[in-house]
Amino acid sequence: MIARRPLTVLLLGIFLGAVACGGGASDSGVVAPPVTPPPVTPPQTPPLDTTGFLEFTAGTAPLVIVAPHGGALKPTTIPDRTCTGCEVLADANTADLARLIVDAFERRTGKRPFLALNHLHRVKFDGNRDLDEATGSHTMLNGVWNSWQSALDSSTARAARVGGRALYLEVHGHAHEVARIELGYLLTGTQLRLSDSALTVGSVMRQSSIARLVTDARSGASDVALLRGAASLGALLTGAGYPAVPSPADPAPKAADSYFTGGYNTVRHGSRDGGATDAIQMECYFAGLRDTAENRAAFADQLAVALAEFLLKQYGWPAS
Ligand SMILES: [Zn+2]
Repeated sequence: MIARRPLTVLLLGIFLGAVACGGGASDSGVVAPPVTPPPVTPPQTPPLDTTGFLEFTAGTAPLVIVAPHGGALKPTTIPDRTCTGCEVLADANTADLARLIVDAFERRTGKRPFLALNHLHRVKFDGNRDLDEATGSHTMLNGVWNSWQSALDSSTARAARVGGRALYLEVHGHAHEVARIELGYLLTGTQLRLSDSALTVGSVMRQSSIARLVTDARSGASDVALLRGAASLGALLTGAGYPAVPSPADPAPKAADSYFTGGYNTVRHGSRDGGATDAIQMECYFAGLRDTAENRAAFADQLAVALAEFLLKQYGWPAS
């Protein structure tokens, strides 16, 4: 049963309702000015403090040493990279190893390589990927990526001005079954398994990250010799007691072996597509090389000797 209300109560309700809604015509017929809503203040995000994320030091030798994912910083202000297939494990001890290589080279030669370290953990930022994959598409890191890559560009350019030509060496760590240093020249395992003559006839080295060196090595060494013969970095490392592939003793990974060919930076900072800098991605095994401070220091010293010889024989640096 519907309760009957007095008419005055109903009219009062309608009147009050009109006033409360606002913005429309009042009962007096005068149009009220539109009500301006208070300005909405967007939530304030403080700018990302990037202090300490990246480290660069200039050098005096035509050599650039880089550790792109040996960092440990995990700021909570940066979301994790969750992209499909993104590698997020850091390369343990490679930042320290890169530093030791630079110090050892300076001790041995009196000249210092350029150094670049990414201190962010790989779960936040990968210094060896294109923009989207490096940042996990988190645009807050676009500036970090741009700073990182442009500093690598300028380091390689400055290093090349020191010696006319330069070598970019990127320090990584692998956990593959075979304990050997994997030197990546952008050539696949299948290409490395070609015979020496097939490599030469097919001009395969023109697709490598040391394509320019093949044309102007001071020693006059052949393309195959520079890749895995007596003139190669692999030969020098193996001779120092650190097995490496490719090298005279181990010219190519077997078909079943895991092997890193080189990544984004080896393409960008090497000479496959031109430029004055060759690049090699150096993947280091763990036990006996980068596991303890003592082993890292010993390897850094031997690598410095090898690099000094490689630069002298193949790049003519320092000029006599
Ligand atoms: Zn790596």
